[in-house]
Amino acid sequence: MTAVAGRIETGNLIGGEYRPSETGRTFESRNPAHSGDVVGVFPRSSASDVNAAVATARAASVGWRRTPWPSRAAIILRAAELLEERKEDLARLMTREMGKVLTEARGDVQEAIDMGKFIAGEGRRAFGETVPSELRDKWAMTMRQPFGVVGCVTPWNFPIAIPSWKIFPAIMAGNAVVFKPAQDTPACALRFVEVFADAGLPPGILNIVFGFGSEAGSALVEHPDIAAVYFTGGVDVGRTVSETCGRMLKKCSLELGGKNAIVVLDDADIELAVDGALWGAFGTAGQRCTASSRLIVERGALDEFTSRLLDRTSRLRLGDGLDETVDVGPVINESQLRRIHSYTDIGRADGATLLIGGEIARDGALAEGWFYPPTVFADVTRSMRIAQEEIFGPTTVIMPATSLDDALDVANSTRYGLSLSVYTNDLRKAFRAIHELHSGIVYVNAPTIGAEIQLPFGGTRDTGNGHREAGGHVLDEFSEWKSIYIDYSGRLQRAQIDTE
Ligand code: NAP
Ligand code: MG
Repeated sequence: MTAVAGRIETGNLIGGEYRPSETGRTFESRNPAHSGDVVGVFPRSSASDVNAAVATARAASVGWRRTPWPSRAAIILRAAELLEERKEDLARLMTREMGKVLTEARGDVQEAIDMGKFIAGEGRRAFGETVPSELRDKWAMTMRQPFGVVGCVTPWNFPIAIPSWKIFPAIMAGNAVVFKPAQDTPACALRFVEVFADAGLPPGILNIVFGFGSEAGSALVEHPDIAAVYFTGGVDVGRTVSETCGRMLKKCSLELGGKNAIVVLDDADIELAVDGALWGAFGTAGQRCTASSRLIVERGALDEFTSRLLDRTSRLRLGDGLDETVDVGPVINESQLRRIHSYTDIGRADGATLLIGGEIARDGALAEGWFYPPTVFADVTRSMRIAQEEIFGPTTVIMPATSLDDALDVANSTRYGLSLSVYTNDLRKAFRAIHELHSGIVYVNAPTIGAEIQLPFGGTRDTGNGHREAGGHVLDEFSEWKSIYIDYSGRLQRAQIDTE
């Protein structure tokens, strides 16, 4: 399968103009299925580029804040429609740039379309409250106001969907944005941002600064005029971002890692659970924050589940995601490939049994890219590193459980709390699990992936810092409340004192 042709050469998009980095330095984005294929060359930005973007955004934000909500919403809706028109091209670019198979890349773009349409509806809602005052002839109400200029920093695994979760609501609420996408997916980010310009968003409201997290990313987070930071990525970087924001008294919303589990109880529909495990563990080559990286199986179902899972796993096809017969694409880059493989060694050393996979794939055309086969370990116990640490690759582990309580306890036994699932046909057990699983998302008879944008998304414990994206309360993350008191009595009235 040959890659799509064409090489993008671009600058940062600041105030509607493409500008090279001030140092003139660049970096490349490459196709993980064919590492010789350069998708594009992008500016490697530093603090001075970030400063320029923030200053531009700040100047532009005043007019945007004063633009009526429905007028802002009309541009957002137009952007969603343009994404719809460009869905196939964007999906193909995504597969080429980060490897996920084409069906999943289409789903990634679809999520952004859904988000845009959903958020556009807020343009005629964005309700505040009118509440009684304790004093006569006094009016009390609330309204939302934007933060000002906000920063968005995103990972490569959902290169359009994740930026859409942040950027649509941020600009809907009247903020201006400076966006630092992942260094592995700058081309997807560029095409996404261009949609807004084509939809009529005024220059300077959405600015993109390409580059590395340790340079452009940290400069953005540390910039004093960035009032709020929306970050999705790993726990260690998230902690650093949070420390900076804490010191600078900025709002900081973190969506971090996961070590998600599917619980399969004895009474479950085993074939359905196997379908879910395959999709949950190996979709996006396991590079999802919600990947089903643990399969906790009650003893009575263990043998049947394991043998069916192995049979189905052995039939998955690895390859370039643009080939529609391929089930599992490459992983994002060489260092990630080596990291995933290191966990196979760790699993073996800790005493787990490797059932399938476990070797870097180098047959034929696979040698041109970064491919790791679906890998399954059995006999995994909760203290093993492969049961605790996020691998972010197509590796999953089977963990036996002795009962419902034991299974739920194992499911809750990591530092993360993003997505947990249970397969059972027993209503009582399902509801026990819904209440006892300690995570932001719970699925019943479905795998740990498959979030829809009209529900909140995020996790407990080390998965984040208590925030949720998407869902009906999404504007709470992207705006601040203003409380307004209007006294029309014509005299001084003192709250708490002059009450009747
Ligand atoms: P990452 O290394 O934390 O990077 C995320 C973003 O932060 C990238 O844009 C990165 O830039 C930037 N960055 C790196 N260091 C920075 C710093 N010091 N200051 C500011 N920004 C910095 O994560 P990743 O490896 O790309 O993505 C995988 C992780 O994301 C996994 O842990 C996964 O679970 C998590 N994730 C979570 C969710 C969720 O919603 N909970 C969703 C998807 C992924 P570079 O690209 O230059 O490194
Ligand atoms: Mg790449």
